Amino acid sequence: MQNAKAMVPKPVNEPVLSYAPGTPERAALKSRIQELKSQEIEVPIIIGGQEIKTGDMGEMRIPHDHNHLLGRFHKAGEKEVKMAIEAAMDAWSSWSKMPWESRAAIFNKMASILQRHGEQTINASTILCQSKNAYQAEIDASCEMIDFLNFNSWYAQQLYSQQPTYSPDGMWNRLEHRPLEGFVFAVSPFNFTSIGGNLTAAPALMGNVVLWKPASSAVYSSHFMMNLFREAGVPNGVINFIPGSGRDVGPNVLKDPNLAGIHFTGSTAVFQGMWKTVGENISNYKSYPRIVGETGGKDFCIAHESSDVDALATAMVRGAFEYQGQKCSALSRTYIPKNIWPELKEKYLAQVKAIKMGDPEDFSNFMNAVIDQSAFDSITAYIDGAKKATDAEIISGGNYDDAKGYFIEPTTILTDNPKYITMCEEIFGPVLTIYLYDPKDWKATLDLVDTTSPYALTGCVWGQDREAVNEASQRLTHAAGNFYINDKPSGAVVGQQPFGGSRASGTNDKAGSMFNLVRWITMRTIKETFDPPKDFSYPFMDET
Ligand code: NAD
Repeated sequence: MQNAKAMVPKPVNEPVLSYAPGTPERAALKSRIQELKSQEIEVPIIIGGQEIKTGDMGEMRIPHDHNHLLGRFHKAGEKEVKMAIEAAMDAWSSWSKMPWESRAAIFNKMASILQRHGEQTINASTILCQSKNAYQAEIDASCEMIDFLNFNSWYAQQLYSQQPTYSPDGMWNRLEHRPLEGFVFAVSPFNFTSIGGNLTAAPALMGNVVLWKPASSAVYSSHFMMNLFREAGVPNGVINFIPGSGRDVGPNVLKDPNLAGIHFTGSTAVFQGMWKTVGENISNYKSYPRIVGETGGKDFCIAHESSDVDALATAMVRGAFEYQGQKCSALSRTYIPKNIWPELKEKYLAQVKAIKMGDPEDFSNFMNAVIDQSAFDSITAYIDGAKKATDAEIISGGNYDDAKGYFIEPTTILTDNPKYITMCEEIFGPVLTIYLYDPKDWKATLDLVDTTSPYALTGCVWGQDREAVNEASQRLTHAAGNFYINDKPSGAVVGQQPFGGSRASGTNDKAGSMFNLVRWITMRTIKETFDPPKDFSYPFMDET
C-alpha cells in the first residue's frame, strides 16, 4: 500500500546561475569542457546494472566541430532488448513494492548530487554533445533536471494522498496507487538532456521499471545522466540504458507483452508510427499500454496593433533563435499588423544583426550549431526554397556553412502567403517566418493562426488592448497547450508552467506535473467491510 504519510519538502526552483565573467561557475564549466574534450569515451549499454558491449558502434561528435570525436557508443539490438526486458521485469518484483518514500529519496538524492558536484559535468557534456551555450545548458541540463526530480517527488506525495471522499460507518474505502504491471519504454529526443532524464525518472519514481532509448545524437550527455541515476542508488534493472537505432530497438520493445507504457518525446511522425505498432499488437499485451507523447510544434506569435514593439522584437529574437530554434516551443510563425511593421522591422533586424554565432566555448556567442548533418540539410532546404519562391523573401540570414560545424544564420522569411510552406511545417531550426496582416483583419487572422498547422504546442499573443488579448485567448483555446500573453512562447519552467500540447503535438499530459505522474499508476480500490451482512434478504422484501 502506497500512502503519503511522509512529508517531502516543498521544492523551489533551482536558481539559474549567470555564468557572467568572473563567476566561479564560469571557470568551473570551462575547465570541465576542456577535461571532457580531451578524452574519447566508450559508452556501454547498461542492462541490469551490467555494462554490455555489442561492438556495433555509433559515433559521438561535436556539432560545432564535427571532426572532433567525443567517443563511440555500443548499440543495442534485438538480443539486448530481450535482456533489458528480462532485467526490468526481474527488478519490477521488488521496485514496484518499495515504499514510495524510499524511491523519492533516491531521486531527491540525485537532485542533490547534481547540485553538489554533477552540475558542471551534465552541462559541459550538453554543450559538447548538443551545441548549447552555457545559459541554455544551465537551464536545460542541470536546473530543469533538478526541478523535475524535486517537484515530481512533491507531486507524487500529492497524488498518493488522493483517497476516496467517504467511508460510511462500518467500512473503510481506500485507493492503492499501484505501478503499472510491466515495463515503461522511455524514448527521448536530442534537444533536451533533462527530457531524457525525466522521461525515465518520472515513471521510475512511481514504482515502474524502464527501458531508456536516448536519441543517437544525444547518447553522450544521456550517458552522464545514466551515471547519475546509478550514483544516486537507482537499483540495477530499474532503468536500463539501451541506445541504438530507433528502427532496430523500437519494434522489438513495442511488441513485447509486458509493455505497460510509452513515455516519448520527439517528432510527430515517429510517435504516430509507435502508436500504430501498439495498435497492431494490441491483443498481445497483458494490459493496455499507457501512451504518453510530446511531439512536434509550429509555435506562433500573433501581435495586435497595440503591442509594445520593443519587447515584441526581443521576444521574437529569443523565441525563434535561442538554441538555434531547436526547441519544440521555438517561435516559428509570426503574424504582424502592417501598421506596426516598419518600426518593428527596424528594431527586430537590429537585434538579429547583433547575434553572434559560433563555438559555445566562446561565451559571447548567442547561437551555436544545429545538431547534425541531417538536420542541417533539412533546414537549409527550406531556406533554399524561400530563395527561389515568388511569395517569400529572406530579410535576414539565409547563409549556412557546414565545413567545421553545422552553422545556419538566424533566418527570417517574410511572406504574403499565410499558407507558405514555412508558415505550416515544423522546421526545427533557426528560421522564423513573418506574415503581415491588415489590422482590420484581426479576427480573420486569429482564425488563420488556429487553422494553419496541425500542431498545438505553444503560442503567444501580444497587445496592450485587453479586449484583443482576451479575444485571442478565447479564439485560440485549442491552438496551444502552453499559451503566453506578452511573452515569448518558449522557456517553460517546472512547477510554474506545466508543459505539453495537443492536436498533433502530443497527448498533453504535462511534463513536470502531477498530471503526468498519474499516467504511471494504475489504481486498486479497496473496500473493507468491518461487519458484513449475514442474511441475503433486504427490508423491501418484507410483505407482512
Ligand atoms: P525524433 O522523432 O527523430 O527522435 C526521437 C526519438 O525517437 C529518438 O530517440 C529516436 O531514436 C527515436 N526513434 C526513432 N524512430 C523510432 C522507432 N521506430 N521506434 C522507437 N523509437 C524511435 O526526434 P528528435 O529529432 O530527436 O527531436 C526533435 C523532435 O522532438 C521535434 O519534432 C520536436 O518538436 C520534438 N520535441 C517535442 C517536445 C515536446 O515537449 N512537445 C520536446 C522536445 C522535442
